[in-house]
Amino acid sequence: MKILWLDINSSYSHASLALPALHAQIIGTHLDKGNSWNVVRGSIKSDMDEIIGQVEQEEPEILFATLWLFTHEFVINILSRIKALRPGVMIVLGGPEFFGENEEFLRRNIGIDAVFRGEGEEFLGQWLPICHEKEKWSGVKGLCFLLDGNYIDGGKAVVSDFASLRYPEESPFFVSDRSFVQLETTRGCFNSCQFCVSGADKPVRSLSIEQIRNRLNYYEKKGIKSIRMLDRTFNGSAKRCKEMLDLMNEYNGRLTFHLEIHPSLLKEDLRNELNKMPKGLLHLEAGIQSLHDEVLSECTRNGDVESALDGLKFLFTLSDRMETHTDLIAGLPLYCYRDIVEDARVLVTMNAGEVQLETLKVLPGTRMRERAEELGLRYSPVPPYEILSTPHISFNELRRAMILSRLLDIYFNHSPLRELFREIAMDGFELFEKMVDFFDKESGQLFFLSLENKAKKLYSFIKKFDPKHIAQFQRIWIENGINMNTLPGLKSVEPIQYSSSDEKHIRSYRVSTDKGCWIVRYDRSVSQSVPIEILDN
Ligand code: SF4
Repeated sequence: MKILWLDINSSYSHASLALPALHAQIIGTHLDKGNSWNVVRGSIKSDMDEIIGQVEQEEPEILFATLWLFTHEFVINILSRIKALRPGVMIVLGGPEFFGENEEFLRRNIGIDAVFRGEGEEFLGQWLPICHEKEKWSGVKGLCFLLDGNYIDGGKAVVSDFASLRYPEESPFFVSDRSFVQLETTRGCFNSCQFCVSGADKPVRSLSIEQIRNRLNYYEKKGIKSIRMLDRTFNGSAKRCKEMLDLMNEYNGRLTFHLEIHPSLLKEDLRNELNKMPKGLLHLEAGIQSLHDEVLSECTRNGDVESALDGLKFLFTLSDRMETHTDLIAGLPLYCYRDIVEDARVLVTMNAGEVQLETLKVLPGTRMRERAEELGLRYSPVPPYEILSTPHISFNELRRAMILSRLLDIYFNHSPLRELFREIAMDGFELFEKMVDFFDKESGQLFFLSLENKAKKLYSFIKKFDPKHIAQFQRIWIENGINMNTLPGLKSVEPIQYSSSDEKHIRSYRVSTDKGCWIVRYDRSVSQSVPIEILDN
């Protein structure tokens, strides 16, 4: 049989593990040798006709694909056209989109033959031998389909032994040329956050340290530099966490690691270990979701706010050695607009490396989705299932929370204007909230502006509501080498002559504005626009 995998990702930065993870399990078996396997890859930005053309050329008899929030619509659009072109092709889908109730989807998308719920590694071995005998499909755990108009639900598949699965990189379909690879070191999570698909995934299963070392060695040989650890329990156990940190340390200078860490679970000995980690080795994601205990407990997320904030404070002290980012989720039950703005403000004042503010996605298969009606959650019925309102936040307040989210990305996260943004946050809630109102109508366009125009927009806010920061703004403008002639409040720029021949490559100016005066020095051998020194005059 000709089997084709349609691999559509939301970006090109990494490839999905689904195809190689499943294919690796049948390598060397008759299911591999007796069938021809191929893949058509793309992203949601790809040309749809081009992808359909490639699928057509393959003339598949069976077509597999996985769906995720942001690929769902694109993949379904492609598949409905493929089914129209090639009615005989059998289409089976999997992925997080099918963790919940699947009957409605199957009745709406009659061209889809079946969808699969759960962990897929044992699926091919069970289903491929009986793929043409639909009456036998009910024996395949996780498979959901319609038979003579009746919906058959196969429940949820869980692999019998996660640690003994063959590795995705054993498959020729494993992709190693993207900016990072994902390494699934555990499945499941010790925590029970109701908004997360891993919250109900128990028990936690893990690879041994030796298994992980073998895989890292393989990646290193392949020239891979960056690893995203899929380990939701990274510091759930202090002992394993230390072992993992020691392991990662072995690869210092050769690999870098991105991982999630729970800020509530940072005991003294773990802090000491993190303190010893070398510069650039780790990038930490420290989810906090809300700084309100009642919100977290409504989501059954373990870990209180006080200890999480204490953990975050510690992590932010490591910023000279590792990037740390944290996130909040607008739209969680009991979380109101004022609290969201205040929480974001507090994290900014704490000098978090990055603050992400997202809206809740009411995901299929999560407890939050099951409780949506009870909690009064209104959410989009189509992906990405974003929250639209709750009894504690209106649609318009959520929209304004997303304006704040954009402002964080533009003026704080990796922004040259970050320190200024932080100063505004330090001035208190009223001013911070006023900033969101100020940008209400135009934040959508902000992303597309040059740094100069982004800075000018912030200047108009500061000038009107927070003029004491104008001098700091002007200095930041000069520091970042933005066009001096358009510096807001500029009075004059006068060259300063130096007689010493040693200073030939140095240019110095006295820059006067309505709020300050500086001596600005440029080294032409370094940069024409970014100064090497700014001195108060
Ligand atoms: S701690 Fe993270 S991975 Fe675990 S259930 Fe909560 S959100 Fe999900």
